[in-house]
Amino acid sequence: MKRTLTSIVIIALVLGIVSSCQQEKVVQTENNDYLLMATLFHQQAAEKRALSYQAYNTAKLMLDKALKSARLTKKLAVVVDIDETVLDNSQFEAKSIIENTDYPRYWKEWCNEASARPISGSLEFLNYAKSQGVDVFYITNRKLEFKDVTIKNLVMHGFPDADEAHLLMKTDISNKEPRREIVEKTHHIVLLVGDNLGDFLHDFDDITNERRFALTDSLKNEFGSRFIMLPNPMYGGWVGELLNNNFDLTKEEKIRLFKENLISF
Ligand SMILES: [Mg+2]
Repeated sequence: MKRTLTSIVIIALVLGIVSSCQQEKVVQTENNDYLLMATLFHQQAAEKRALSYQAYNTAKLMLDKALKSARLTKKLAVVVDIDETVLDNSQFEAKSIIENTDYPRYWKEWCNEASARPISGSLEFLNYAKSQGVDVFYITNRKLEFKDVTIKNLVMHGFPDADEAHLLMKTDISNKEPRREIVEKTHHIVLLVGDNLGDFLHDFDDITNERRFALTDSLKNEFGSRFIMLPNPMYGGWVGELLNNNFDLTKEEKIRLFKENLISF
């Protein structure tokens, strides 16, 4: 009898362990691991750094060209986006993977820390532009509440024009065109630098990826010329389109949509 009871207890314990492992397995499918490779590319691939240098080296070449040919009716300006263009937020993405959380969880904490590092090449390029008498404007879709901490983060690294007058934050809309028009009232914009196509032209916002490709093809001569593109495999307008801009989907639904969009042979 005693032996039977012991056996029952052992079987129950084993079943308990198996069932808790299965529960853990269910939880594991609801994680953010789909962001792993993109975030690691950002943090661990020297290739990513090389691409950033390539972008900013090209920007310098184009700026020098513009400086030689510009008819100075207005002051010259370079317009840059902030996130993944001049400041690296991959540590926020890493936190989201490790803690299994989603934006906007931790975004406020991350911005308030003001500890984002510069994207390689950005600081040197923008200080070069400033040394040539070109003004720098930061047009970002960070919310207005993060203006002071963003300035603090930029100033800490020595970014030029990191002040109230040169930071155009998101107020009500994500569309950056009205903010570019404000800059154009006083300046001739010689270059736009960004990691999202909407950083260059509003026409890229909220259209399907098929149309984004078509528009990119039609503007191919602008890239590496007036439009300087930084790589960002972690997020962007292209991801929104894959998810039909529904960010409330469960992670399983997101992964299903991502897989549906794979092009295989
Ligand atoms: Mg950006």
